[in-house]
Amino acid sequence: MSHVVGRLAPTPSGYLHLGNARSFLLAWLWARHEQGRVVMRIEDIDQARCKPELREASLSELAWLGLDWDAGPHAGDPPGEYDQHTRFEFYRTHLTRLAEAGLAYPCTCTRKDIEEASSAPHGDEGAIYPGTCRGRWRGFEQARLESGITPAWRFLWDSEPVEFHDEVQGDITIDPSTLGDFVLWRRDNLPSYQLAVTVDDADQAVTQVLRGRDLISSTARQLALYEALELTPPRQWAHVPFIQDAAGRRMAKRDGDLALAHLRESGVDPARVLGLLAWSAGLLTELRPAQPADLVGEFDLKRIGRDDFAITAEHLAWLRG
Ligand code: GLU
Ligand code: ZN
Repeated sequence: MSHVVGRLAPTPSGYLHLGNARSFLLAWLWARHEQGRVVMRIEDIDQARCKPELREASLSELAWLGLDWDAGPHAGDPPGEYDQHTRFEFYRTHLTRLAEAGLAYPCTCTRKDIEEASSAPHGDEGAIYPGTCRGRWRGFEQARLESGITPAWRFLWDSEPVEFHDEVQGDITIDPSTLGDFVLWRRDNLPSYQLAVTVDDADQAVTQVLRGRDLISSTARQLALYEALELTPPRQWAHVPFIQDAAGRRMAKRDGDLALAHLRESGVDPARVLGLLAWSAGLLTELRPAQPADLVGEFDLKRIGRDDFAITAEHLAWLRG
């Protein structure tokens, strides 16, 4: 079996919170448990939302927790090599390949057009794109001139249902018609998350992907892209549950006091953060401080389970010691 490569892929548009940190910890433990390498990739396509200081903060907080990586920023690679914002040309060549193969088409629909398309069914992620622009335009320039709108590029997704095995969720089958043709290149001239992640995971030889369960449907899209681009997909997938905040919502940026930066500044011991994250994921039988190296040997994806974990005031009090 060839070598295992895992990856951590933060988006520096906000501070890392306990929820993000737990997914990164699990991804790191999985790779290290299999004696794998870890790639750190910065998902900063949207430069209007991503900030250099948030990039540095994310890296420094993950290092504070005790995670390390073998490729990416501060790992001896040329600066920016693993930052998505420097790689647009690389993504563009893959878009071109898809367009030349007839698998990408320009789309001039606005979000409102899609919402208003009366027949458009709704999926979990809002209105499903109804394929309005399939076969509608001869090319990008014609679409732009005739519509007066800078088009997006969408993937023409006509495959059989996508099946994959998820190490946490079990066997998954997703029918493309429940998701619709997705964007490859945005109307604001940025590559889409789906395109960039797919070609980066292939280019960086990633063999295992562990991320939040909100990205299960994205895995189906990305597997379709691997096939269309004739690239080798990661061999293993795991989509993990979330941490919920006190209000029972998926933890998010608004939970400022659960940001790692805040915990760190207020003197919390990183071994306690790690212990809480590992225990909440079923990896420790009792709540206690832990070091990353203690957790590697016993790591087992089967212990993670599918339920979200609700964080309480008592947990936070324990963190503060
Ligand atoms: N950059 C994404 C995030 O921070 C992760 C995407 C992925 O793991 O594919 O949520
Ligand atoms: Zn369209």
